[in-house]
Amino acid sequence: MKTMWAPWRMEYILSARKDECIFCDALSQNDDLTLYKGKDTMVVMNKYPYINGHLLVAPIRHVSTLEQLSKHKMGELLATIDRSVDILKQAMSPDGFNVGLNLGKVAGAGVEEHLHFHIVPRWFGDTNAFTVFAEVRVIPEHIKATYENLKPYFKNMNLTLIN
Ligand SMILES: [Zn+2]
Repeated sequence: MKTMWAPWRMEYILSARKDECIFCDALSQNDDLTLYKGKDTMVVMNKYPYINGHLLVAPIRHVSTLEQLSKHKMGELLATIDRSVDILKQAMSPDGFNVGLNLGKVAGAGVEEHLHFHIVPRWFGDTNAFTVFAEVRVIPEHIKATYENLKPYFKNMNLTLIN
């Protein structure tokens, strides 16, 4: 096996030093990675994904911990995660998902000041994805194609799971 080298991760580490918040940035401008902007929640594609289809779900409010959210907004966040998982199932047919929250730099949070959940779709046999992507370096094309694929689903996303 060749040495695992992920240039986009390096780019991420470097860009993470900047002071800006990528989520608040994504809200203020129409970038090509934002799939959904709702009243309380947003969904963006990870610019430096672990795997194709890696999404980030965040509250609109710039908060760093769950307890800063009301129960209702926490519910909206969970509903958005649930809907996003459903969309990925329909659009990309993964075999499973990792869904999680990294709280604090030590836990791996790249942007720790704005709370966000990771949704990572998984396929049987995808353990070599890092190596494959690193070698061919087609991640930007993957992201754009995946964005075009997912965007129509999010346009019709219905969050009425909660009263
Ligand atoms: Zn923010």
